[in-house]
Amino acid sequence: MEEVGTGLLDRLDAMQRVAASAPGGPLLIVAGPGTGKTRTLTHRIAYLCAELGVFPERCLAITFTRRAAEEMRHRLDALMGDVAEDITVGTFHSVGLTILKENAKSAGLGANWRIADDAERAAAREQAGDDDLAYTKLLRQQDLVDLDDLLTMPVALLRDEPELVERYRKRWQWVFVDEYQDVDDVQYELLRLLTPANGNLCAIGDPDQAIYSFRGADVGYFLRFSRDFTDARLVRLTRNYRSSAPILAAAVQAIAPTTLVNGRRLDPARVNPESPLVGRYFAASVADEADFVVRTIDELVGGLSHRSLDSGRVDSRAVAPGTLSFSDVAVLYRTDSQAQVVVDALSRAGVPVQKRSHNRLRDRPGVQVIARELRHADGISGSPAARVKLTAQVLAQRYAAPTLDAEQLAPEDIWTAAELLMPLAHRIGTDLTRFLQEIATGAEVDALDRRAEAVNLLTLHAAKGLEFPVVFLVGCEDGLLPLRWPGAKPTDDETAEERRLFFVGLTRAQDRLYVSHAARRFRHGTEREQSPTPFLDAIDVGLFERMGDKVPSRPKDRQLRLL
Ligand code: ATP
Ligand code: MG
Repeated sequence: MEEVGTGLLDRLDAMQRVAASAPGGPLLIVAGPGTGKTRTLTHRIAYLCAELGVFPERCLAITFTRRAAEEMRHRLDALMGDVAEDITVGTFHSVGLTILKENAKSAGLGANWRIADDAERAAAREQAGDDDLAYTKLLRQQDLVDLDDLLTMPVALLRDEPELVERYRKRWQWVFVDEYQDVDDVQYELLRLLTPANGNLCAIGDPDQAIYSFRGADVGYFLRFSRDFTDARLVRLTRNYRSSAPILAAAVQAIAPTTLVNGRRLDPARVNPESPLVGRYFAASVADEADFVVRTIDELVGGLSHRSLDSGRVDSRAVAPGTLSFSDVAVLYRTDSQAQVVVDALSRAGVPVQKRSHNRLRDRPGVQVIARELRHADGISGSPAARVKLTAQVLAQRYAAPTLDAEQLAPEDIWTAAELLMPLAHRIGTDLTRFLQEIATGAEVDALDRRAEAVNLLTLHAAKGLEFPVVFLVGCEDGLLPLRWPGAKPTDDETAEERRLFFVGLTRAQDRLYVSHAARRFRHGTEREQSPTPFLDAIDVGLFERMGDKVPSRPKDRQLRLL
């Protein structure tokens, strides 16, 4: 545990300190990527508790993914020690779930209500046809709720019962929201119900990283904040601590044409004339692009050629301590379907990979089957981790032969699903009910293990909020980023959102960033000629180093972290 008090704020710069130590009342922190938003938020909570006597149990910190919530909890533990346990940290869905659990009866739910699984939802949908009301009715008859209900039901309850509103406002007198640019209508309404107009709501985010409008998020709530919350204080952070100067310059130019922030500024805290430029690779094909990624990782991490390629096993001694390791590397892409060719190329070279998307965990084949088995398999005892392992063994055997199950899965699906669930199971410990809840509500990226000695393969959506020393952004092609169906004409708003996604990708990189595009790619059932994304045109060519077809030169000291 670190020293509390002013020492706490010593680790922040002047503007971050202003934000962290601002008095109560509505507070909006608008700041670009890597400016320490998440860091400032955790320090603010720690400061309020240590210096202003705020009780940790009066604090509610909301994030958008389970993974971000865990990261926040981890940072709070490090700053505050044991008392951090009393802070409620969760996603909007988990907050909704808490409220619903505490008021299930008034919400009209029976004693055994739970979240519906895929099969149950599909059955209700089919029976209801297009009639939504009927769908909800059918779920309720079985005492089931779906994920949307976890937000809409608490909002409806709070709207109807002023005493309930008072109760929660008393419990959570301090509310904090990270990645605020991604709130949607119902989440915003929940925030408004939970905090009075002059309440202690601290919202923190970056409108230029708003990437969820397809799910109903509305960046307009950023602009509405000052209208709905009286005397809101606004703080901007402009120093970027994450990326090298060339990477930051490229990112700033990339977003400039459609920035949503008036008078936007982003200054590099890390200035080093030796910082490498942004690598740009013109690949002939998708296979060539994947080879480029493998070759460059070999150069940076080293030792791939000395690994046993036949067995696919990696000799961990090949990674010298103190230099880059596989976990420092991320390969980012627009759509999940781009991952396979990179996974194959890396696996052939014996590089361990960890692939995650932002899709729901339960949408991955096999996950639901394992979850269902864990519900039902009363005979098995032990921690969720032990149960997952055992269940996977049983299921893999079952699916090795054709079955009469509606879903015929391959044993590989079961193993991939089990691999995805294991880190989650380990982190959760012994609470099976919570584990099943996580499966029902979580995203694949929640199961990302940052300590795993593996290259991270992530969709751009899943990479939000994360940072890596080395980032490859592959498939920077027109039609793919911005994503577009053949013949479809995207609106300006849609293209702007794709540009923000590109911006999110570029700004994940700390020391080295590579962008690449292939001249040909198989898409929509046919091989197509591809052109580089027009988003690249906004970036000064002087910021790029064109990577040759030959193996790029090895950095002299290999201590890339120091660059
Ligand atoms: P994003 O928009 O991508 O979510 P962010 O604004 O939340 O980014 P953080 O993840 O909090 O940024 O910080 C980015 C990096 O900069 C982290 O590695 C963090 O530790 C570092 N950092 C932030 N502020 C400081 C500071 N004052 N001094 C040193 N390092 C800092
Ligand atoms: Mg952040």
